Amino acid sequence: MTKAPFANRRDDPTPSSSPADDGPTRTPHPVRCFSFFEKLQHYGRAFWHYRLVPTAAPSYVPEDISIEITNVCNFRCVFCPQSAPQHHHVVPKSYLSPECAATFLQKLREGGVRTNVIHWTHDGEPFVNKRFHEICAVGVRYGFNEMYFATNGMLCTPERLAQLPRADCGYTFTIDFSADEATFERVRGTPGSWARVRANIARILADPDYDHITVELREISTFVESDPALIARRERALRGLFPSSRRLRVRSKVFHNACGFLPRLRRRRRVRYRLCPYPWTSLSVASNGEVVASSRDLRHQSVLGNLFTQSLDDVWNGAPMQALRRHLIDERPDRNGACAGCDLPYDPAKFTLANIWRTSSGRLRLFSRR
Ligand code: SF4
Repeated sequence: MTKAPFANRRDDPTPSSSPADDGPTRTPHPVRCFSFFEKLQHYGRAFWHYRLVPTAAPSYVPEDISIEITNVCNFRCVFCPQSAPQHHHVVPKSYLSPECAATFLQKLREGGVRTNVIHWTHDGEPFVNKRFHEICAVGVRYGFNEMYFATNGMLCTPERLAQLPRADCGYTFTIDFSADEATFERVRGTPGSWARVRANIARILADPDYDHITVELREISTFVESDPALIARRERALRGLFPSSRRLRVRSKVFHNACGFLPRLRRRRRVRYRLCPYPWTSLSVASNGEVVASSRDLRHQSVLGNLFTQSLDDVWNGAPMQALRRHLIDERPDRNGACAGCDLPYDPAKFTLANIWRTSSGRLRLFSRR
């Protein structure tokens, strides 16, 4: 297997949590964020370079940006590489500082990124980082006022929520939860966590003062159950746990195998190969600056550059990223550290119109008017 020049390096100089620059006080690079039609135009162009005439060096920059707040988590979910005892030997613990966030966001804007949507998600639980609210404030200064991220909900207390900036800001919390307490605590939580998470979610939905926060719940019974009738019942029961709200969305979670971490899901390999879209649309930046293959690459199996030491353009169309795309175009995911064990190219559910619609209206916020 060929590795990208940066792949699996553990000796890259990772700055301390505060690089020697003016971080949050620096003047942000000016940006005019996308209009709806410009968003459509961008994704039309991305589709051309990804699907119609696949190219290893697309002539646009990514507009689906994920930045990790920390790779540390307070849960030990059985479906997540976090739960492996050696995880932080593979990827040392790291917490993003507001100063480092400003460095990343400045580079993204200088590189031409125009979206107002930011995903504070990769590995870890964002609220474990006590400076998360300061990082959100930096995001707002750089024009990222639509924040969409996964949280386990355990630390969404009134005190933490009150710290988040809210003027002209919108937040979407995606929370993996279950109507069934025993399933939840077996699969993801610690004893007693179900009741606390439930109370936190209920408070957000019941209190109009949180009208800037939308909650997307994913029923996780799909991890241990396969009976469609039971899963549908759990989904309905999950909806029924909370007050009816236009700020609540519920669906069942579709699990992936986390780049091979869950080998039992690799049975999808028997299905035909499809080209993964992420390297043409998305940028995943870890809290240590490493840019990795996608949001699934929690173990940094394909490191494509580092946003502390390189510009966006150097990373986005650098040799490692081009090699990764080329291997996928050539139907050789086995040549990319992260893709070798990933089930996405063999998962037909990811390529259905329903999933494309869900992604466009959810994660990409294509129809958001903010
Ligand atoms: S094939 Fe899997 S690991 Fe590779 S870029 Fe796509 S989602 Fe990420």
